[in-house]
Amino acid sequence: VYILAIESSCDDTAAAVLQDNKVLSNVVARQSVHEEYGGVVPELASRAHQQNIVPVIDVALKKANIEKAQVSAIAFTQGPGLMGSLLVGSSFAKSMAMALNVPLIAVNHMHAHILAHFIDEENYDKPEFPFLALTISGGHTQVVCVDSFFDMTIIGETTDDAVGEAFDKSAKILGLPYPGGPLIDKYAQLGNPKAYPFTKPKVDGLNFSFSGLKTQILYFIQKNVAQDPDFIEKNINDICASIQYTIIQILMDKIKMAVKETGIKQIAIGGGVSANSGIRTTLKETEQKYGWKTFIPKFEYTTDNAAMIGIVGYHKFLENQFNDASVVSKARIEF
Ligand code: ATP
Ligand code: FE
Repeated sequence: VYILAIESSCDDTAAAVLQDNKVLSNVVARQSVHEEYGGVVPELASRAHQQNIVPVIDVALKKANIEKAQVSAIAFTQGPGLMGSLLVGSSFAKSMAMALNVPLIAVNHMHAHILAHFIDEENYDKPEFPFLALTISGGHTQVVCVDSFFDMTIIGETTDDAVGEAFDKSAKILGLPYPGGPLIDKYAQLGNPKAYPFTKPKVDGLNFSFSGLKTQILYFIQKNVAQDPDFIEKNINDICASIQYTIIQILMDKIKMAVKETGIKQIAIGGGVSANSGIRTTLKETEQKYGWKTFIPKFEYTTDNAAMIGIVGYHKFLENQFNDASVVSKARIEF
């Protein structure tokens, strides 16, 4: 089975080809137009998708070394995401499926961030059902109990900002360019995580809150910069390490609670923030410390990519879960 997958939920145009559960190609065109605006501009994103989608799919097919005629089905991101961006991918997927006369498969982007763990890779163990997934991305923060490929339940989520936003907004306060998450990670590696203790929010149950932390950081920076205009520059490593440490503690507290409540000790992380080196190290340590088994995706499957859409497409293909051309894109989508 050859699955052609298309992902266009936000600002990256991506296409991939899978042969069963193996990735033959995984192509991403990143959009740099948004950097100078300090965030994603929806109109610019959909225009860039329109420009990128044909070449990106072409390259994905070429790299996979297959012809269009060999494609068994086309999988695309139905949502959640920016409507204009989603529509470019879905219209393209629909017309291509129609032209090639192959099935169309609509994929939930958040399921894909989780099921990316089932992409077949050398030396990569796949989780066994049931497992807990911590999805940490630019728009979401969710603890999900995954019972099977298509049976998953959100047992905790953020009540305000997503963890990726917490990273990006903190970075913005420090004057770092967008998206600042990877930069905080970079500076944090050279800093002392306990240099500046920030307090963790008190949120009941398995839910998260990150907006209070952002405000706390803002006041902390304003206060210190008032006393020393070079405060950020002089202490950037320690500041970033402290912010990252606090965010990781918030995540780990809830994961520990979820393990306690469910009795499940397999933890898989997914989404763009799972690229964070501090999170990866802290999570790995729990294997020794608590006897958990942890699953950390390959770097290219953490941030938005089409291979993860393809693996969901493959499993839906096996179960004949197809869609017709009337399927609608959704900015928000029922889990
Ligand atoms: P969603 O999947 O919720 O729709 P999205 O697709 O925009 O959101 P992703 O591409 O999965 O989000 O993740 C992007 C986020 O990951 C950004 O907020 C970015 O700052 C963050 N991020 C990427 N790498 C790192 C890193 N090394 N450390 C911290 N954050 C990171
Ligand atoms: Fe995403």
